[in-house]
Amino acid sequence: MRECPSCALPVEEEAEVCPYCGYEFPAASPVHRAVAWLMILLLLGSGLYALWAWLLR
Ligand SMILES: [Zn+2]
Repeated sequence: MRECPSCALPVEEEAEVCPYCGYEFPAASPVHRAVAWLMILLLLGSGLYALWAWLLR
């Protein structure tokens, strides 16, 4: 949970807009973006690995 800077009520971490006052949160924090990229790289990596394993079977 994080605090809405507009109304100071606790808001879901994933929420892009405060459900109480409609405050729009700025784009995801750098940490969230890094985690998202890590997930994408992991997915791509496992996909490539599966393809590689399939080619070399
Ligand atoms: Zn709010």
